[in-house]
Amino acid sequence: MKIGKTFSPRIAPTIVAALLFAASSFVSIPPARAQALAAHKTQNVIVVMLDGMRWQEVFSGADPALIDAVGPKFLSEPEQRSILARQQYWRPTPAQRRLALMPFLWTTVAAHGQLFGNRDLGSDSNVINPVRISYPGYAETLTGIADPRIRSNDPIPNPNVTVFEWLNAKPAFAGQVAAFGAWAQFRQIFNAPRCGFLVNAGYDPLTAIPLTPRLALLNQLKAQTPRIWSDEPFDAIPFHTAVEYLKAKHPRLLFLGLGETDEWAHAESYPEYLNSAHLADAYLRQLWDLVQSIPQYRGKTTLIVLPDHGRGTGPYWTQHRADVPGSSQTWMAFLGPDTPPLGERSHSQPVTESQIAATIAALLGQDYHAAFPRSGSPIPDVLGEKTQ
Ligand SMILES: [Zn+2]
Repeated sequence: MKIGKTFSPRIAPTIVAALLFAASSFVSIPPARAQALAAHKTQNVIVVMLDGMRWQEVFSGADPALIDAVGPKFLSEPEQRSILARQQYWRPTPAQRRLALMPFLWTTVAAHGQLFGNRDLGSDSNVINPVRISYPGYAETLTGIADPRIRSNDPIPNPNVTVFEWLNAKPAFAGQVAAFGAWAQFRQIFNAPRCGFLVNAGYDPLTAIPLTPRLALLNQLKAQTPRIWSDEPFDAIPFHTAVEYLKAKHPRLLFLGLGETDEWAHAESYPEYLNSAHLADAYLRQLWDLVQSIPQYRGKTTLIVLPDHGRGTGPYWTQHRADVPGSSQTWMAFLGPDTPPLGERSHSQPVTESQIAATIAALLGQDYHAAFPRSGSPIPDVLGEKTQ
């Protein structure tokens, strides 16, 4: 069990925390109700979450306060890793650094989609749950509410229905929903025994579709490569597994959860944290190029990318929890046929992760927010509609 995802007594629930939770569940968000059922071009949605990826690197690239940090001794040649990271990701300006780190976000998404969360430009994106760790963050994002019962990373089945489960129960989406995650806990987050769609997580082999030579090899690698983290393989394996599934089944709603950014941050390796962010960006490009090559998806698919929580700054960059400032601060990116190309947002209406579930549904012409009134409302700017 990983350090950061283990329940910490420092975030043990208190009466105050419980009250905060209760309050946060009822925060009213400016309504965007009228447009929820408007016709959209989006027929498919792909959600990719990068665990614990900070907004600071997304919008400014490698952090000048951290770029020369030498990582932990358990990794070979930590000094050499730091030198290589500087060569690969350090540039004179933040705009150049972010382009070097995440070129897909800063070319394709910035040109054709929207990115929220650059506080330096007056664009806020946050989680509303007060514990600011992974399970509560994913649950908030996927159900639209911050449930006080989900206050740790304990492996309890999610008592709430995610937007994925809700859509899969509708005839138009039945059997066309799937979730892939590096972290084993996605089984509980999606409530795999109940949800009715495929949840492939952790070290589970994918056996739900006919084996291709490529999928057989991925399953073998998942079983046979060293387990640095007991509950999470390297991101490359779930990513390529999800790609095999997408090519075979063409799901209308696909989730992919990548975990290395968070793991390397907890491991105090800034070079590997940057490398995993850079790789994730390359995965996004590969996924986007793939869907644009398939008629079912081309011009009819929206990609949503975001983390599950923020992290601290300076020496606290490795951590995130209720009492580490910055842990609530997230970012989110949208790319698709209904999202106006406003690029990097500035002075925008604040957005929260609790709005993602209803936004996914609204893009697909469904009103999740009406079904679950405590959930955050859809983000109108993403749907190409004006805020009321
Ligand atoms: Zn973590």
